[in-house]
Amino acid sequence: MRAMPNSYDPDQIIRPEILALSAYHVPSATGMIKLDAMENPYPLPPALRDEIAQLTADAQINRYPDASAAALKASLREALMIPAEMEIMLGNGSDEIIQIIAMATARPGAVLMSVEPAFVMFRMIATFANIKYVGVPLSADFSLDLEAMLAAIGKYQPTVIFLAYPNNPTGNLFDAEAIARIIEATPGIVIVDEAYHIFADASLVDKLAQYPNLLLMRTLSKLGLAGLRLGLLIGRPEWLIQLEKLRLPYNVGIITQLVAQAVLDHLDVLLEQAAAIKTERAIMSRHLTALEGVEVFPSNANFILFRVNGADRIFLELKQQGILIKNLDGTHPSLTNCLRATVGTPGENAQFYKALQTIISPAV
Ligand SMILES: *Cc1c(COP(=O)(O)O)cnc(C)c1O
Repeated sequence: MRAMPNSYDPDQIIRPEILALSAYHVPSATGMIKLDAMENPYPLPPALRDEIAQLTADAQINRYPDASAAALKASLREALMIPAEMEIMLGNGSDEIIQIIAMATARPGAVLMSVEPAFVMFRMIATFANIKYVGVPLSADFSLDLEAMLAAIGKYQPTVIFLAYPNNPTGNLFDAEAIARIIEATPGIVIVDEAYHIFADASLVDKLAQYPNLLLMRTLSKLGLAGLRLGLLIGRPEWLIQLEKLRLPYNVGIITQLVAQAVLDHLDVLLEQAAAIKTERAIMSRHLTALEGVEVFPSNANFILFRVNGADRIFLELKQQGILIKNLDGTHPSLTNCLRATVGTPGENAQFYKALQTIISPAV
């Protein structure tokens, strides 16, 4: 018998750019007040939960799901008011859609462009798909630096540009006119990621008809269905026909299809929850602004970015008190000493303010 080698060396097998990556870190949050991941803190009402229980009990989980998810797509069209002439592609979360777009556009020499700081998955997925990534710094106030963007577009001729609207982790909406200029200037496609659309009262959906190279991404995650994993891409059939070829046939499971559809039939529930979150966002902004030495950035999303003195220490002390937010210090030069808190329930938020206040100005 041929002897097996003692060890196989991943360094000889795995691509070097993957070896160099650190895995996306999801901290454990068991028993904590969880304000780190932009989740909707509210459960669904009991009647709707009962309806979901019945639907899942009756679901034919021995069968593959509807590969085209036709019924769910029809519900999404109606609930999200998607223009009739646009197609929809569904993903296992919008993360999967980003991956499909990166894979589809990774021609030799192609460039995937975004801004910095932006949603980290744009850069990570570019690496997964072996497509060159270029990040253009935002202005100091986190607005689009249009001149820098136009110069970078001229230099790199990007195949695809991702812009989150509102942006994560900064929370602001970019100037729609500046985005229009970028769409007009680029030789490639522009994906506007509207993950926080429900909290923003703004959308570029009306621009789809005008710009042949614009596509729009949405997700149900921040709306209250993060656990289901459902994202969607909206755009012209000529793009979506190509991208559909990369979508794995059963990427959206039967439970996700059934439950998402049932919840979309009660869209008012999600809209009410979003309205409550927006009210709480204003309260959170006031509380943070009132704290000594805290700089609060304006938000059109369900989280608030703020700068403190000693972010690492404050983050850790909050964690020790059972409150998990996101520490962005060290992730980008413009985010030095920045923390990000998701808007939770009034009770969760109150505990967060109280803990933060005690850490920042301890009573003597
Ligand atoms: C949270 C987030 C997503 C990911 O959403 P999923 O649908 O849960 O994969 C996409 N884009 C941005 C900007 C986000 O913040």
